[in-house]
Amino acid sequence: MSLIPISDIVERVRSLSIRRIALQAPEGLKRELPVLAEVLREEGFSVIISGDPCYGACDLALDTLDYADILIHFGHTPLMDHPRVLVEPILQPEQIPLLDSVLPLLTGKKIGLISTAQHANSLPLLAEELIKHGFSPVIAPASPRTPLPGQVLGCTYTAARETQADCLLYLGTGVFHAIGSGIATRLPVISLDPYTGEAGVVETDRPLRRRFAVIEKARSADRFGIIVSQKCGQNRMKLAEELLPIHPNAEIVLLREVTADQLLNLGFPCYVNCACPRLGLDDQIRFPVPVLSPPEFEILCGRREWDDYEIDEIRS
Ligand code: SF4
Repeated sequence: MSLIPISDIVERVRSLSIRRIALQAPEGLKRELPVLAEVLREEGFSVIISGDPCYGACDLALDTLDYADILIHFGHTPLMDHPRVLVEPILQPEQIPLLDSVLPLLTGKKIGLISTAQHANSLPLLAEELIKHGFSPVIAPASPRTPLPGQVLGCTYTAARETQADCLLYLGTGVFHAIGSGIATRLPVISLDPYTGEAGVVETDRPLRRRFAVIEKARSADRFGIIVSQKCGQNRMKLAEELLPIHPNAEIVLLREVTADQLLNLGFPCYVNCACPRLGLDDQIRFPVPVLSPPEFEILCGRREWDDYEIDEIRS
């Protein structure tokens, strides 16, 4: 069964005065695009598919608009308005597992509920269940980059911070967003897998120690490449320009995809990442040299203390 709601999409585009459509989706959904393309072609539209890698709505394939009247981007929530772009999140059906495994792990009464775009619609259900067990759950309202209440992104933890809770409960798979929320708020975080019901205490000390080690490794670097992304929702040229004077041997480097090969070819012994904040935290192991976040660069250059460590976020 298709995750993309094909008949809804067909109905929506029929109501628009358009003929040419471009489609874009992240890797996990890409294989569904040819199926939708075929249906749209049978409806009389011409269709092109963006084949480039895509990790978020920060990376809209606006180049496809040279050949299409609109771009439909699937799998994320909108980060910005564009008159010729439709962003279609793919929400999982509202559901939560049994809470037996998670209840003993929660600390305090006020529990901040957070999730990703796929499962944020299940947070009200989770809140109802927690109230039955005597907790006071809080779901923070939407923010400009996270339009679903309680939603966090790898670059935006506003919904975690605004709960002002005793403890955070993350509903989702994987632990990246849960670790980020813990570092951003310094609150205890419990993760709950919506499919298996497995729960666990999220460890933030070890990831922070790893970042400390990366900063220490960068101390021998004598030149710095400050990476700025060309992707529309990640471009932080202003921040890069503010960081540039901090070190006499720093250059701004504009990139579309940040890969190990590109970093190697450019030859800097250390980079400062003003592209997607996930890169350093999630992908350092792939990179040949240290890739620091802007606050980590400030720590390295003596502009900030380690005790004032902050996770890198895109605030807009
Ligand atoms: S900048 Fe990174 S974390 Fe933020 S939406 Fe884009 S891919 Fe996701």
